Amino acid sequence: MFQASYLTCRSNNSPLSTLHSSLFTLHLVKPGGATVAVTVSVLGSGSSGNCTFIATERVKLLLDAGFSRAQTAKRLLAIGESLDDIDALVISHEHTDHVKGLAGLLKACDIRTFIGDVTYEALSLKPELKRREYLRAGTSFQLGDLKITPFPVSHDAADPLAFNLEAEGVKISHVTDLGVLTELVRHRMAGSDLLVLESNHDLEMLRLSPYPWAVKQRIMSRHGHLSNESVGKFFEEDFDGRAAFILLAHLSENNNHPDIARMVARKALEKRGFDLDNLLLASQSGPSRVVRF
Ligand SMILES: [Zn+2]
Ligand SMILES: [Zn+2]
Repeated sequence: MFQASYLTCRSNNSPLSTLHSSLFTLHLVKPGGATVAVTVSVLGSGSSGNCTFIATERVKLLLDAGFSRAQTAKRLLAIGESLDDIDALVISHEHTDHVKGLAGLLKACDIRTFIGDVTYEALSLKPELKRREYLRAGTSFQLGDLKITPFPVSHDAADPLAFNLEAEGVKISHVTDLGVLTELVRHRMAGSDLLVLESNHDLEMLRLSPYPWAVKQRIMSRHGHLSNESVGKFFEEDFDGRAAFILLAHLSENNNHPDIARMVARKALEKRGFDLDNLLLASQSGPSRVVRF
C-alpha cells in the first residue's frame, strides 16, 4: 500500500490557499495517477517532546508543540515540509512534552491554535494566542478537507484528548498519553487506516527502574501511560485488523526499548494477519517514516 510518490505542481484553488505563502502548492501523485490524499509523519515522540505532522491536499497541521521552533522547522524540513506552510496547531493536553514549543512556534507564525479552555488554563506559561480556536471533547470540527474529532482519554492532565482525523475516506487515530484503553477509545480507534498508538513502557523494565515508587505507580495507573503489554493485549483481543499502518509512539527512553515494543506488538499482530512491514515506530530523535494514503 505504501508507495513512493512523485512531486508535481498545480495551481491551488482551495479556500485555504491564502494561508499558504506560495501561489503553488506541491501536489503528490502516486504512480498510476492517483493523488495522495493524506500524509502523516510523527516528527518526534516521547517524554522529551511530541509533535505530529498531518497534511491533506488543502490543509497542513501539527498535533502538539513539544519542540522548539527551530527543532520543529528542522524536522519538517527533513520530510520535505516547511513551517511556513502550517495552517493550524492542535493541542492534546498541557504536559510539557506536548506544549513546550507553543510560545516559540506562535511568536513568529500566525497559526490558528485549537486548544481546550481547561487545557489553556492549566498551562504553566500561557502564551498569547492571536488566533485561538474552540476545541472540546466529542465536538468534531472541519479544517479544510480534514474532519477532526477530539475524544477524552484517561491521563493525569486537566482535560486530555486523543483524536480521529478523517479526509478522503482515510481515517487516522492518534492516541497517546493514556493509562487505559477505555471502551470509548476502542470504539474511536475502530476502522482506522493509520493507528498512532502509545506503547510507553515495558512493565518489567519499569518495575526494575530506579524511579521512585510514586512515579512508577503514576505511570502504571489508569491515568498514566500504556504499557507494551496492554498494547499487545489490545492487538490480540480487540484490534479490528483494518489499519494499513500502525505507528507505535511515546516510547519511554528509560523504561522501554524499540526492539521490545516492536516484538510485543509483532507477536500479537501476527495472529491477526497484519502486514508486519507496516508496523512502524516513532522515535524521540527524528521524524518517523512518512505514511501516505
Ligand atoms: Zn506525553
Ligand atoms: Zn501527558
